[in-house]
Amino acid sequence: MTSRYDILFQPIQIGPVTAPNRFYQVPHCNGFGWRMPKGMAAMRGMKAEGGWGVVCTEEVEIHHSTDLSPYFEGRLWGDDDIPAWELMTEAVHKHGALAGIELAYNGHDAVNLYSRTPAFGPRSMSLTGGNEFEPGQTRAASKEDLKLVRKWHRNAAIRAKKAGFDIIYCYAAHNMTLAFHLLSKHNDRADEYGGSLENRVRFFREMIEDTKDAVGDTCAVAVRFAVDELLGGDGMQYDGEARDIVAMLAELPDLWDVNISGWSNDSATSRFAKEGYQEKYIAFVKSLTTKPVVGVGRYTSPDSMVSAIERGVMDLIGAARPSIADPFLPNKIKEGRHEDIRECIGCNICVTGDTRMVPIRCTQNPTMGEEYRRDWHPEIIAPKKSADEILIIGAGPAGLEAARALGQRGYKVILTDAKREAGGRVLLESQLPNLIEWRRVIDWRLTQIDKIGNIYFYPSSPMTAQDILESGEPHVIIATGSAWRRDGIGRTLSHPVQGEAKIFTPDDLMNGDLPSGNVIVYDDDHYYMGGVLAELLATNGCNVTLVTPATSVSCWTEFTLEQDRIYKRLLDLNVTLLPHHVLASHSPETATVSHVVTNAETVLPCDAVVMVTERIPNDRLYHELKPALADGRLKSLRLIGDAEAPNIIAQAVFSGHLAAREFGETIDPDVTPFKVE
Ligand code: ADP
Ligand code: SF4
Repeated sequence: MTSRYDILFQPIQIGPVTAPNRFYQVPHCNGFGWRMPKGMAAMRGMKAEGGWGVVCTEEVEIHHSTDLSPYFEGRLWGDDDIPAWELMTEAVHKHGALAGIELAYNGHDAVNLYSRTPAFGPRSMSLTGGNEFEPGQTRAASKEDLKLVRKWHRNAAIRAKKAGFDIIYCYAAHNMTLAFHLLSKHNDRADEYGGSLENRVRFFREMIEDTKDAVGDTCAVAVRFAVDELLGGDGMQYDGEARDIVAMLAELPDLWDVNISGWSNDSATSRFAKEGYQEKYIAFVKSLTTKPVVGVGRYTSPDSMVSAIERGVMDLIGAARPSIADPFLPNKIKEGRHEDIRECIGCNICVTGDTRMVPIRCTQNPTMGEEYRRDWHPEIIAPKKSADEILIIGAGPAGLEAARALGQRGYKVILTDAKREAGGRVLLESQLPNLIEWRRVIDWRLTQIDKIGNIYFYPSSPMTAQDILESGEPHVIIATGSAWRRDGIGRTLSHPVQGEAKIFTPDDLMNGDLPSGNVIVYDDDHYYMGGVLAELLATNGCNVTLVTPATSVSCWTEFTLEQDRIYKRLLDLNVTLLPHHVLASHSPETATVSHVVTNAETVLPCDAVVMVTERIPNDRLYHELKPALADGRLKSLRLIGDAEAPNIIAQAVFSGHLAAREFGETIDPDVTPFKVE
């Protein structure tokens, strides 16, 4: 039977290899890197199992002089690194997919903290990798140095071929690689690698030619090129030199993988960019080359994917995040199970695997990063071991995921929530400005729960300990969430802030109780909440000052690549930003803030304070029920999600999933519950 989506399943020739379909997992970081090759390989293999026709690595260092520490990326410095990559290519080939490797020689982005080798740059320029402000500069690469880099790239390509890769990248994107730096109009070299565009393209052209010469007989040579940096005339522009560069190299590579740079543009969050946001920039490429083109844009809708191909924007649908949130996205489309796609919410918690240097996590997919160490599969879970029934109190992300996964195991689950609608904090938070896609955390779970006959959901059912005991259910999971504090106690203050100002919490605001006039948002939480509430209030006509003890506003959003955009949005809304200050006291008309270092005090006009500090776990039910566990009226009792330990939504989902996996198992708290690499 033909379907509108058939085009997504047509094989496509890429140089000497053939991709089985149009689902292309573009290179993406994962925090495993060279340190945890088994975890990395199992994660990539899962994508192939789920139907991705091409599965690529993250950026892979080709030589010790491009050492990307303190981050953990891929490594192919020498032959010793080949076996680790064989783990991946075997895992990917097992499912009929092609394996691609993104060879990287980074210039000023390589701070070489581990190798202690000076990095090469087009000129001696400041290092921008690491924490962005690492002391030190690159060494200006001589012509001999550039020859060496070409040789190292060639050697790495040969090693990659030995390791079994089918597609080998020449990488010039993300304002990181030496090749991209040399393409820049800021390359002021006086030799044949600087000056005219032809000269600036020379190194990249040579690198592609070298790679084709070394491995092009059996491997496809792909180019990853950022066609715009969103810097206007200061950077690469899709309607400027990028066009000329693509035209000059059009038929040289076997595949064009095009995107926008830097990473925060390429992986823009849903708060700032919607599906298909890169099309405007990359659409021209196909008009200049006959080679296949892959692009990204957080595509999760099969219709948008088909449309992108039919409109001639790209030939293959590139994805990092959609493949993380749902490794089985292609297979689900193939089987016509579109409603089962676990759509990425565009929150970039996955990115924090790399930026925090830990194995990748995902808000939507709690099994991401756990494929090897916990043997978790995103679609398969152990069947039930008994006829036990489970009562879950609270249908936030933790309770919903616990119910869904226990239901998938075959257990009878009763899920209750005090509210009329499921979703808990996600229901409220997704109504904040531009966070609507976060609702997908609820929607996917409710769709699945609807399909599973053995899960019974009772909304509008606030439960007391007595109700729970009277229900006679022997197994109880408490997922009752948490409530934002009102007193100012948090990371910085261990005592309540004194005063008589009107105090609001994020819960108040999200439930529609908004302050007016001069409002101070006191952010000692440091993730998105303070910033997004400041945005909400400013849009509602308040005169907002965001006060935070941190050195910058919404400081943890640096790790989700959002901080600059948050600053811009708040400044555009005339929000006054006051980092480095703690809330000292408040009165009905003023608030006193003090500098965290000097203690200098400032009095600000203030009609209301919004306290965004810590949350108090709603664990009362759990403690009330503990005696019933002790005396045998309950067989098991488990506290999960924010009720156990307030954290990000991804952690609540994970906690619910873990509870479902561990149900009926004997857990020894002395034993590490996962394999350690
Ligand atoms: P988490 O992030 O851990 O899932 P949330 O705060 O998002 O936590 O969700 C907790 C849910 O629990 C909310 O929807 C809330 O209405 C519900 N809840 C809290 N207490 C009770 C209770 N006693 N009975 C039923 N539902 C409750
Ligand atoms: Fe998407 Fe968020 Fe998962 Fe990343 S962590 S894949 S952005 S849902």
